Amino acid sequence: MASILDPASLNLKVGFEIHQQLATKSKLFCDCSCEEAKKYDNSFVRKLRPTQSELGAYDPAAMFEFSKMHTVEYLAAFGSSCLVEADEEPPHDVTKEALEIALTFSLALHSKVMHEIHVMRKIVIDGSNTTGFQRTMLVASGGYLDIADKRIGVQSICLEEDAAKFIGDEKRVRKFGLDRLGVPLVEIALEPVTGTPNEIMQVALTLGRLLRASKRVARGLGSIRQDINISVHNGAVVEVKGVQQLDQLIKVIEHEMQRQYGLIVIAQKLKEKNVDVKKVGDRIEDVADILGSKAASRIVKKILEGGGRIIAIRVPGFAGMVGFEPYNNIRLGRELGKLVKFYDVDGVFHSDELPNYGITEEEVAAVKQRLQMNDNDAFVILGGSNDKIRFASEAIIQRLKAAVDGVPAETRAATPEGTTVFLRPRPGVARMYPETDIPPIAITDSMLMSLADKTPRQWDEVVDLLAKKYNLNKKLASQIFDSEYLNVFEEIASKTKIQPTFIASKLTEDLTSLQRQGLDTSVLTDQVIKDIFTRLDRGSITKESVVLIFEKLMKNGEPTIMRIVNEQTNVKDDMEMKMVNAAIEALGASSISDEELSKGLDRIINNNMAIIKEKGANALSTLMGRAMAEYRGKANGQKVNAMLKDKMSKMIDN
Ligand SMILES: [Zn+2]
Repeated sequence: MASILDPASLNLKVGFEIHQQLATKSKLFCDCSCEEAKKYDNSFVRKLRPTQSELGAYDPAAMFEFSKMHTVEYLAAFGSSCLVEADEEPPHDVTKEALEIALTFSLALHSKVMHEIHVMRKIVIDGSNTTGFQRTMLVASGGYLDIADKRIGVQSICLEEDAAKFIGDEKRVRKFGLDRLGVPLVEIALEPVTGTPNEIMQVALTLGRLLRASKRVARGLGSIRQDINISVHNGAVVEVKGVQQLDQLIKVIEHEMQRQYGLIVIAQKLKEKNVDVKKVGDRIEDVADILGSKAASRIVKKILEGGGRIIAIRVPGFAGMVGFEPYNNIRLGRELGKLVKFYDVDGVFHSDELPNYGITEEEVAAVKQRLQMNDNDAFVILGGSNDKIRFASEAIIQRLKAAVDGVPAETRAATPEGTTVFLRPRPGVARMYPETDIPPIAITDSMLMSLADKTPRQWDEVVDLLAKKYNLNKKLASQIFDSEYLNVFEEIASKTKIQPTFIASKLTEDLTSLQRQGLDTSVLTDQVIKDIFTRLDRGSITKESVVLIFEKLMKNGEPTIMRIVNEQTNVKDDMEMKMVNAAIEALGASSISDEELSKGLDRIINNNMAIIKEKGANALSTLMGRAMAEYRGKANGQKVNAMLKDKMSKMIDN
């Protein structure tokens, strides 16, 4: 949906916090490898017991979150975790390589480096760290980044350890992978910027390019994560976490701008109506007997069968306002729906949308009567287990009370489609304590001098060098540089005889077009990509098959691929090679020998003698079509054409 709002008149402001994983040999506080684990070798379980002071002031979201997960299971893999990750051994000294990279970034951003760096502990209560805190250190503050005619201020540059990788919730056990815990991250916070969403995206693009130009950062989805703070005039700052791609960033900014301004419009209307928000939730009644009598609504029936409760909350003065939609899909009702999802509650209805969903007019009237409502009032009905209803009803009342102030300050998560959903209320300033296991690190002038020549080059310069080295045009060079495939591209280009332009275009333009069809690139690991190009280099597949194999693998989940993979029990190769084998088999994409091709073409000619007799040399295009229908992906088109032409001319001459 195109935004009709003007960012300048709304005073749109966006602050970035970019988290970039570094490509160091070892983790920040131990010698373990930063490689992502392919499988885990062992695991251990911990109980989470955050203290009241760690949870801070009473916050229903934090309490609820905590009530969901008493137990955490950590999965560990050999090589990527040791006693440090398990919190059985104190952290080692800060890895020099990571510190150096953080310092070179600071120099490149004209930031003032600290004379002494102190490692701090930042409390985390979600189980994402075995210690209960994240170690972080302020490396530099201030500085700037120049973009076209704008100068963007830098607030701070920190070096920190990445959190463990969230794997999933199973019953009441939350699972994390330790391979990511302790991977060095540089966190760069920028001063809030203004402009259109596209101009703001340029800031993230430029900073990302500067970091990648160092060639010392990790690549791939998830290796750079942006948290953004978005606000509009008269609103509050909303933090959106987990933006991973630039086109998603533009959509998120547009969505938030519209959502936040929409909420401000709703607040203005509530004020015009002189709504007294203190009265929200002044009456809460059990209405299971009303809605459950005939159990007409499927959702209500399910809740009651599960032993749940159904309550109705009176919302004085809100008639027509819960469903009021200043912009498409921007309304309080939707905010409430997303909010209760956080509390695992599915059943939420409000008076502006009823009767509907199997709830009848008579039932609505009976609820209104029980709540002693007048025509200006609204109600919200909530159904679910007793425990969840308690948290959710409180959150709903708080949210409706906050509606009169417009935008609540909260933390939201970006969706892949570029919208945002409620994650939790915005936490206060993070509580930090000094890390007592690691002494402060002195940064001397001579140390900084020695790093001066290691600061990242300008992006343009790096792209020019890349273009020259591999004989690529500038556009392709910048595309491959900006992609997550630079390293694998360079490896293939230097180890095979394949034209670099061909490799780069497959890994950029072709993959992008497959992605646009909604296919997921995550299956194409560096290993898989190398395997495919090595086969091409050996001549066991054709150039035309490369993209077809990509596509087949990205549609993985396809039963044929997995069936063939499972059948390869005698193949000792790793999973990746098996998958490429399977894709090739499913496509029938193995190259055939010239001899086989020649025989096949003779057969096609024999079967089409009538056409050849009729059209003579003009039959070539028809025969070519039939030949390619059979040999696409198995034989090079030019070769088929040449052979066919040769055979036909010999025959016609005779
Ligand atoms: Zn370790």
